[in-house]
Amino acid sequence: MTTPRIDFDLKPSSQPLPAAEREAVLADPGFGRHFTDHMITIKWTEGRGWHDAQLQPYATLQLDPANMTLHYAQSIFEGLKAYRQPDGSVSAFRPEENARRFQRSGRRLAMPALPEETFIEACELLVRQDKEWVPGTGEESLYLRPFMFATEVGLGVRPANEYLFMLIASPAGSYFPGGVQPVSVWLSEEYVRAAPGGTGEAKCAGNYAASLVAQAQAAEQGCDQVVWLDAIERRFIEEMGGMNLYFVRGSGADAKIVTPSLTGTLLPGITRDSLLTLAADLGYETEETRLTVDDWRDGNEDGTITEVFACGTAAVITPVGQAKSTSGAWKVGDGQPGEITMQLREALLAVQTGHAEDRHGWMRTLA
Ligand SMILES: *Cc1c(COP(=O)(O)O)cnc(C)c1O
Repeated sequence: MTTPRIDFDLKPSSQPLPAAEREAVLADPGFGRHFTDHMITIKWTEGRGWHDAQLQPYATLQLDPANMTLHYAQSIFEGLKAYRQPDGSVSAFRPEENARRFQRSGRRLAMPALPEETFIEACELLVRQDKEWVPGTGEESLYLRPFMFATEVGLGVRPANEYLFMLIASPAGSYFPGGVQPVSVWLSEEYVRAAPGGTGEAKCAGNYAASLVAQAQAAEQGCDQVVWLDAIERRFIEEMGGMNLYFVRGSGADAKIVTPSLTGTLLPGITRDSLLTLAADLGYETEETRLTVDDWRDGNEDGTITEVFACGTAAVITPVGQAKSTSGAWKVGDGQPGEITMQLREALLAVQTGHAEDRHGWMRTLA
């Protein structure tokens, strides 16, 4: 059975933010602080499926205190960026991959699947309506935040029979306005992000709630970010905060780009996946494998691991300059952003901003 196409009701705002105020926001948008004039909402009800799709003015929600999400956390989200292209159009980076991951996250949390074409259409409608909110230059973008949560009212523990899908958008400045800065990381042996059979592969709100205390501990250790280890042996490297990790072995044209394999407890990042392809395009050997804390420290000490970086939609690529664990601290390379790290960062951004050929059909015009 094919799903019938969902028709959107378009209700544009009669009071969008005046242009001068919008321009003031766009001059220094930061991240996730300002939102555009509109949002998308689509309801889902058991027996009826998806219905009542709307583009409407951005507004607050009213929630019943017994809203099931507040108690049992059926809540998932995505994050993707729309970049202004040299010809003035606006394109998103691999939005189909976000749509598919959103479906997989939903399945894990016993939530309904939003059709891929509806997810994309929601992005198109919102970006078209709020196109003037897309910043104009360089690494700046319009960050799109699709999410879905249970709206049924009640305290019985079971999958809800009502959900709301929403899409909001927020202008995002360059992640490193003063130039790319390496981060320091704390390898957490006390807390884990995900365990086999858990929700590590799903982009769900609860994973983030569970990570915050470890992030606070990293800060107490004087580090910027937490690195997650596997739940069982606390030995294998998994991820950094909300980003995937990469290790560079060797240097120059013979360098090998290595990333932890998707064991079921890692979030399968779209940036991570794209870099495997992009690194190969640039002539580097790539490998997905399991890597231990000892491999990392020994590799930095004997110089076989030359660079480490993290990757994700928000920051694209972030170099790692220092690592620290219960057994001591060590420097990654010379502590500065590595050459290959920066080469990959520029190559990926060039595709996203329309300054390099899109060899793999990754960019999708939204408006
Ligand atoms: C979203 C996310 C990532 C990065 O995924 P991208 O698709 O590259 O943005 C990595 N790790 C975690 C835990 C995440 O939530």
